[in-house]
Amino acid sequence: MRLKHLEMKLQRLKGFPAPRPVLEQYATPADVAARLLYHASTEGAIGGRRVLDLGCGTGVLACGAALLGAGEVVGIDLDLGALQAARSNADDLEVDLDLVRGQVGTTFPIRPDTFETVVMNPPFGAQKKHADRPFIDCALMAAPVVYGIFNAGSLDFVEKYVEGRGEVTGAVEGSFAIPRTFAFHRKDRMEIPVEILRIERTEGC
Ligand code: SAH
Repeated sequence: MRLKHLEMKLQRLKGFPAPRPVLEQYATPADVAARLLYHASTEGAIGGRRVLDLGCGTGVLACGAALLGAGEVVGIDLDLGALQAARSNADDLEVDLDLVRGQVGTTFPIRPDTFETVVMNPPFGAQKKHADRPFIDCALMAAPVVYGIFNAGSLDFVEKYVEGRGEVTGAVEGSFAIPRTFAFHRKDRMEIPVEILRIERTEGC
């Protein structure tokens, strides 16, 4: 499937029914999701792979991974409404997802190395400081390769944070177009610069 075609399919998916600011519930824009997935796919990380979408929300990344031929896709989120939206999106696209309710950062229903690839758009930590850290920890535990979306300028932090456990082996710049979602948003539309980072676990960790 071509990049543009994937983007068009993801564009049609439903957003969060009742977005919760404290959980930073912003659906990943279709263009950024498609770019991450396509990039991962060309690197052999999606087709036929066991893929985990951490903080799957409405399932944009999970659905896209399934469309690109992932062998198995699991999405995890703590919010039931988000998981219902993800289920409905997967049904609309006729893709198969396993959706699990779980809270990253607590005792977690995942065994180490159950997956080959993690894709994620974690909370950036705008509402709750360092909310992205348990996502990085959990991702590196779950799979040897992680593709994550972070605030632009996070590269140095992520490199330091994973030191000794992993390495950032790829970075692609992007931009998140976010429509006015919460009361504290002042503009009708915001552009948030982001970076898509590929993190590889250090062998033996
Ligand atoms: N990639 C998704 C959602 C991104 S927003 C999409 O495109 O729709 C971040 C998601 O992380 C939200 O769905 C939120 O509910 C979830 N989340 C936040 N903290 C979490 C935690 N500790 N454990 C599991 N999910 C969490």
